[in-house]
Amino acid sequence: MASSLDIAGINKRFGKGDKSVEVLRKVDIHVAPGEFLILVGPSGCGKSTLLNIIAGLDEPTEGEIRIGGKNVVGMPPRDRDIAMVFQSYALYPTLSVADNIGFALEMRKMPKAERQKRIDEVAAMLQISHLLDRRPSQLSGGQRQRVAMGRALARQPQLFLFDEPLSNLDAKLRVEMRAEIKRLHQASGITSVYVTHDQVEAMTLGSRIAVMKGGVVQQLGTPDDIYNRPANTYVATFIGSPT
Ligand code: ADP
Ligand code: MG
Repeated sequence: MASSLDIAGINKRFGKGDKSVEVLRKVDIHVAPGEFLILVGPSGCGKSTLLNIIAGLDEPTEGEIRIGGKNVVGMPPRDRDIAMVFQSYALYPTLSVADNIGFALEMRKMPKAERQKRIDEVAAMLQISHLLDRRPSQLSGGQRQRVAMGRALARQPQLFLFDEPLSNLDAKLRVEMRAEIKRLHQASGITSVYVTHDQVEAMTLGSRIAVMKGGVVQQLGTPDDIYNRPANTYVATFIGSPT
C-alpha cells in the first residue's frame, strides 16, 4: 500500500542570528500515493536539503512532513520507512550482490527462505538475476547502481527518495537507467520523490514536476503545464519553453 507525502509549510535556515541563511521557504507539496514527483532546479537551490528533511537526516526550522497523514518531524530516519538512493552508492565490497540486497532484511531478522524469495523478485525486476553471486568489484557502474536500487527496493519502503542517482553515469547509461527507473516505479507503485538538476530528465521521468529556485518552488505542475504554461520567465528559461 503506497503512502501519501505532505511537505507542509517547510522553512529551513542554516546557522543562527545575522549569519543564518534561509535555504527553503514555504515549501508546500502534496504527493499522492504512488506518485512520482520530480524536484528540479539549479545546484544550490535546496533540493538535497528538502530530501534530507523528508528522510529525517535533517530537521526543518518550521513546518511538517507527513507520511500517510502522520507528522514524522522528530522521528529518527530508521523509523520513517524510507529508502534513499544517492549518486554515490556504497555497496558492501566483501558481500555478494545477493547479500548486499538482502542485508537490511537480515538485520530485520527476516527468515532465510523469505529473504531469498525477496532477493530473487527484486533481482528479476532489475534484470540482475545473473549477477547475484558476484562482488561489487566485478560489476559495471550501471550494474552497481541497479544493485543499489535493488537494496533499497528489497526493503519495500513506503517512500522512495532519489538524489541525482544518475549523475555519475555516462550519457548512454543515464538514458537506459531512466527507462529502468520508470519501469521500476510502475511495477512497484512506491511513492517517489526524485531530485535532479537535469531538465530533460525531469521532463521525461515525472508525472509532476516542482521547479525550484533559491529555496522557493516556482511552479508545481505536469510536464505539459511547465513547458506550455510556465508560471514565470524563470521557469520558461530554465525549462527552455518556446516563448
Ligand atoms: P542542491 O541539492 O539543490 O544543490 P542543497 O540543498 O545541497 O542544494 O543546498 C542548498 C543551500 O544550502 C546551498 O546554498 C548550500 O550551500 C546550503 N547548505 C546545505 N547544507 C548546509 C549546511 N549543513 N550548513 C549550511 N549551509 C548549507
Ligand atoms: Mg544536491
